[in-house]
Amino acid sequence: MKCPFCSGEISSDAKYCDYCGSEITNKSSSTVINVTNNYFKEEKRNKKSLIIAAGTVFAFVLIIVIIVVVKNVKTKPIANSSSVQVTTSVIQEDKTNANPVRSVVLVDSIDYADSADFENALNEGLNLEGKTVTFQVREFHPNSAFGYNMWAGEHLNFCSSTHPNTKEGDIVSVRADKIISYAKSWIIYYTFVEIGD
Ligand SMILES: [Zn+2]
Repeated sequence: MKCPFCSGEISSDAKYCDYCGSEITNKSSSTVINVTNNYFKEEKRNKKSLIIAAGTVFAFVLIIVIIVVVKNVKTKPIANSSSVQVTTSVIQEDKTNANPVRSVVLVDSIDYADSADFENALNEGLNLEGKTVTFQVREFHPNSAFGYNMWAGEHLNFCSSTHPNTKEGDIVSVRADKIISYAKSWIIYYTFVEIGD
């Protein structure tokens, strides 16, 4: 079987992962994975509506461009080919600039400057959803059962269905959006934050 935290190949009766040391238990794993799947589905739905909205805007802009081009063709027949070329290059430029951008929310301050304090608060039973924390990416596991997994400590897994564009050693700040307890570890779905003015 695969370790849900780092996807390392481990024996099916292993209590701990040989690779990342996470504790492995099959108890309530299906519930957790269901919750995880629902969370991803919700994310996908949100993405779908974003894509539809972007598509609508793009179609609207395209229609306006076509109207402008058609008008130009009618009023200035000689400028026909050059205005079509300009339109094409504008569209190409938009496509090349469409790199995925990490979404970030601005916050006044960080609630937990240390991932150990954050983990202690979780272990004390506090609900930290909505709280912010700064931590170092100690390990990065892109193929965990919970998606891209930034490992901030033995029991702290910051997970996302999209690549966070981080690497091991990076210091990052996030807001915990959803926190799931799994096999004595914490699975945290998050949004990146930056300190605003
Ligand atoms: Zn592992």
